[in-house]
Parts: sequence; C-alpha cells; structure tokens
Amino acid sequence: MEKEALFYTKGKENRVQCELCPNNCSIGIGKVGICGVRKNVNGKLITLIYGEASSVAMDPIEKKPLYHFFPGSSILSVGTVGCSFKCGFCQNYHISQNPRYPTDYYAPEDIVSLAKRNGSVGIAYTYSEPLIWYEWVIDTCRLARKAGMKNVFVTNGYINQDPLKDLLEFSDAFNIDLKSFNEDFYKKIAGGKLKAVLETIEEISKRKEIVLEVTTLVIPGYNDSEEEMERLTDWLSGLGKDIPYHLSAYYPMYTFKAPPTQVSTLQRLKKIAEKRLHYVYLGNVSGDSSSYCANCNSVLVQRFGYSIKVKNYSNGKCTSCGHAVPIKG
Ligand code: SF4
Repeated sequence: MEKEALFYTKGKENRVQCELCPNNCSIGIGKVGICGVRKNVNGKLITLIYGEASSVAMDPIEKKPLYHFFPGSSILSVGTVGCSFKCGFCQNYHISQNPRYPTDYYAPEDIVSLAKRNGSVGIAYTYSEPLIWYEWVIDTCRLARKAGMKNVFVTNGYINQDPLKDLLEFSDAFNIDLKSFNEDFYKKIAGGKLKAVLETIEEISKRKEIVLEVTTLVIPGYNDSEEEMERLTDWLSGLGKDIPYHLSAYYPMYTFKAPPTQVSTLQRLKKIAEKRLHYVYLGNVSGDSSSYCANCNSVLVQRFGYSIKVKNYSNGKCTSCGHAVPIKG
C-alpha cells in the first residue's frame, strides 16, 4: 500500500528531500531513493511499502539475536523489502536488495492480533531493514503498546535523530548491526556513514528502559583485525560494559566471495572483547552461548542452539550471588 511519507521536505522543481535516514536522498519526480521504496510522486514523498510484508513468522527471540530480553520466549517477526545500505555480504539480500520481491499487505491491527493469537511477547521488526518501513512500523508500535506488547528492532541503526527519538517512545529492545569500526568499510561496502550508526547506538544507550544489544558479522580480511576489535569494544564499553555484544560468523553470500569465518577467529576476537565487556556471545556457530553472571560466573541462562533454560536468574538478579544482571523479562 502507498502512503505519504513522514520526514521529508519539498525543494525546487518538485524535488523532495527524504530526511528519514542519513542518506538524505534528494529525489526527482518519478524516482525512488537509495532504499528503493520511497518515491517522489508529483512532488510528494510516498512510501511504497506501507504494510507490505515479505516475511511473517514466529521466531525464538534468541534468533534475532536478543539474549537479554525475555529469554526463551517467541516473538512474531515481520520484515519488508529494501534497505538503506548496499552490503555485498547481506545474508538477506533477496529481500533487502530487491524492492520488487513479492509482499502481502498487513494492516497494523492484523499484525497485533496475529501476535496476540500466537502468544507472542511482542513484535520484532526484522529480516530486511525496518527503519525504512518507518510509517507502518511506528503505527504498529503504537497499537502493540496499547495491547501490552513489546516492540523489538533488528536494524542497521541508520536513521536520523528526529525520527529515531519519536520511535524510541515505543521501543523496548534493539539489536543494532555494527558492521565495522572503520569509516571506510561503511563508505565503500555498506554505502553509509559509521558516525551515524554510532550516534544511534549512543542515543539508545541513554534510555535505560530499552534493552540494547549489538552485533558484528565478522568477515575474514574485512573487519576481523584485533586492532579494530580493540577500538570497537573500547568505544562500546564506554557506553556500558553490560551491553551484550554478539560476534557472528559470516558465510559467503550475494556478491561476497571471502571464505566463511573460522571459529578460531571468533574465539580470538571474543577474548579481546571480553577484556572490556561482560557479555560477549558467538553467533551462527554451534556450541555453548549461555549467559554467565559477571560476578560469580553462575549460569544465568543456558543455551544450546534454540534450547533455552533460565537457571540462576530472576527479576534482574543472579539468584546465586544477588548481583544485578542486565536481563529483562
Ligand atoms: S529512507 Fe530511503 S529515501 Fe529516505 S533518505 Fe534513506 S535511503 Fe533515501
């Protein structure tokens, strides 16, 4: 469904400037922005994807990945098409880089009632880039909140500060993809700006009521140096040592031919990250990804794949030693 977009200004000769994400596309009549889903129609900016979902499914919340938010729960997950980035390694490129991928229309109330019927903890906006789906997402977030449900985002974090602040009023948890700590990587590979993503992470980290987790997909030869991991985790730990950090294995996808990430690489980077952060997890590989108390090392949440058991954790505390634990739900 088409709908007039939020966050844009009108310019000369019927051009429009989209101000939703830091691409700030200036769009001529009949053209779309970089994301492929926001179009200038007769001098108005129109979102082409209001309510258009490419994927709707119940997923374990750990799959997002979110490890510190309602562990062991399931969440209704929805995604659209298009993206503000152009990453050649995108693991969901069939929807993110193809705005014409088939979609089905869901009104916000359809998704909220589907979530309720399935006993979902809330709604996860995920799969492709949810921030470019802003108008439908914020309408759905409002309804979900009224229905007592949570709103969760899995995103590249590429959004301008004004729309971000409005969205945060209805947000409960984020997993932000921090692709690299190198401005050049963002510019050449994603087609974006690292600084803008860092600003999003900083802003969310100030909201103590929102769970913030961060993920890096580790790509051999691109973002797997120890020096970069030191700089990244130095910065992230400055915002909070309790921010959960996920290091995920990459597999060759789309246009990228680099070999898959070795488990030994992930383990080496995990050791560096753990010098600064209390909760570091490996993703896209088999093995233990349990949460341990940062004080007494008791198992808080045991994880083997998607088999989850909450152990020594209750009401924000480790039940073994009483240490405050940054897990919600
Ligand atoms: S949301 Fe899309 S159209 Fe708007 S600035 Fe970002 S890439 Fe451009």
